[in-house]
Amino acid sequence: MSRVEPASGVTFDAYAPVLIVGAGAAGLCAALAATEAGADVVVLERDPLPRGSTALSAGLIPAPGTRFQRQHGIEDSAEVFAADIQRKNGHEADPAYVAAVAEAAAPAIEWLADRYALPFSLVHDFDYPGHSARRMHGLPSRSGAELVDRLREAAEGAGVPILADATVTTLFADPDGAVRGVALERPNGTTERIGCEMLVLACNGYGGNPELVRRHIPEMDGALYFGHPGNRGDAVLWGEALGAELRCLGGYQGHGSVAHPHGILISWAVIMEGGLQVDAAGRRFSDESHGYSEQAATVLRDAGGVAYDVFDERIAAVARQFEDFRQAEAAGAVLAADTIEELAAMAKLPAAVLAAQLDEVERLKASGGADAFGRSFAGSRPLRPPFRAVRVTGALFHTQGGLAVDASARVLRRDGGALPNLFAAGGAAAGVSGSTAAGYLSGNGLLTAVTLGRIAGAAAGRLALGTCG
Ligand SMILES: Cc1cc2nc3c(=O)[nH]c(=O)nc-3n(C[C@H](O)[C@H](O)[C@H](O)COP(=O)(O)OP(=O)(O)OC[C@H]3O[C@@H](n4cnc5c(N)ncnc54)[C@H](O)[C@@H]3O)c2cc1C
Repeated sequence: MSRVEPASGVTFDAYAPVLIVGAGAAGLCAALAATEAGADVVVLERDPLPRGSTALSAGLIPAPGTRFQRQHGIEDSAEVFAADIQRKNGHEADPAYVAAVAEAAAPAIEWLADRYALPFSLVHDFDYPGHSARRMHGLPSRSGAELVDRLREAAEGAGVPILADATVTTLFADPDGAVRGVALERPNGTTERIGCEMLVLACNGYGGNPELVRRHIPEMDGALYFGHPGNRGDAVLWGEALGAELRCLGGYQGHGSVAHPHGILISWAVIMEGGLQVDAAGRRFSDESHGYSEQAATVLRDAGGVAYDVFDERIAAVARQFEDFRQAEAAGAVLAADTIEELAAMAKLPAAVLAAQLDEVERLKASGGADAFGRSFAGSRPLRPPFRAVRVTGALFHTQGGLAVDASARVLRRDGGALPNLFAAGGAAAGVSGSTAAGYLSGNGLLTAVTLGRIAGAAAGRLALGTCG
């Protein structure tokens, strides 16, 4: 149960100038930056080993103007990236905030690569919806598990203590909102109190709190939650009690392509490279190219919760760079057949309907036309045997609403100004996606985890040193 209690009279068992709640990408980047600033840091993590939603992700981080893009001859800039983010969210996010994270992204990727030896490379072989340049960066396995493991190793190497099995339940605050420390609970029920100068909330959003999802994102009420179950909305609940401004609580990252019932992410590359989605009657039901995030609710609403991604072996070869896709193949989630009729039989779809849908799509590809839903197939390559299909559903990945922060990641108050010593990063902070699933541009999640984590840690570290002398 997350609470805020008066700090007056509370004694602490230990003290850390900078305390960070959560050891996902945001918390670990904050820990590295605060340590570099010269501050002593402690990270508190509820799990035995840091995982978070970061470990469940594909670990892909968008960044414009990196040397990894230049190696592939790709020109890009923070301005173009910021414009892409704003176009996708309908210009709902604060332009100064968007500009700050867009500018911070490439330096953050190169910082992690150069200083902590994270071997990033560019995903250079397909486009993500809404990005006007290829700018997704990932580690060799293209998995978030590798990302969080490498960040944890970097933090351990920098001497950052990560207190595992430590669920923060309570913040102790002064009447002006200054947080003096926290209480944490151990798995055996014992509690400890740790005092701090600066507190960074990096405990993600409220995807793991069904009550908050029902209240703020009714269209995903009861949907499969594919993020980390420990992300129960503590940051917004504490922030609300401290007088923080909450923003865009209806915003989220969904995904319309999670293998079902296997529960494995199927990369949206299967659609963007020329694949299609049909319902259980074998019919297309949407313009799949808008984006995978909004497709989650579309699959739930318009396809009755179950759809089929249909693509071919060429596309499967592109998707195979992702660990998730390889696992889906190993688990038998990816059906393979030499003809559409055979594929339909395997997927239990009406063969004639599926074949007609595919014919129409192939005609549109050949003519460069658009379908009745508005999807343009211009430039899309034809599907060729052998074919592939995966049964999928729509899922909630993570929430994008949260604590309003400024460009230094300081948490803002409802009545103006910033709270004295509170920072938020990653899913704990309101992101750059506005208040709907459609506002989510691929990579917005790790973008604010890595950039705001670094910004929050550096600022908290500097301020803690100033305060402690
Ligand atoms: C399947 C999937 C795929 C995704 N793919 C991508 C992608 O490719 N690119 C992208 O940009 N985004 C992606 N995302 C979103 C991305 O994973 C998140 O936006 C990002 O990981 C958020 O990082 P974080 O550090 O804020 O949170 P997390 O990584 O979730 O870390 C939060 C940590 O806080 C801990 N915690 C929570 N509450 C407490 C508490 N009270 N006390 C102590 N600890 C606590 C949790 O245990 C957790 O370890 C994906 C998400 C999912 C689910």
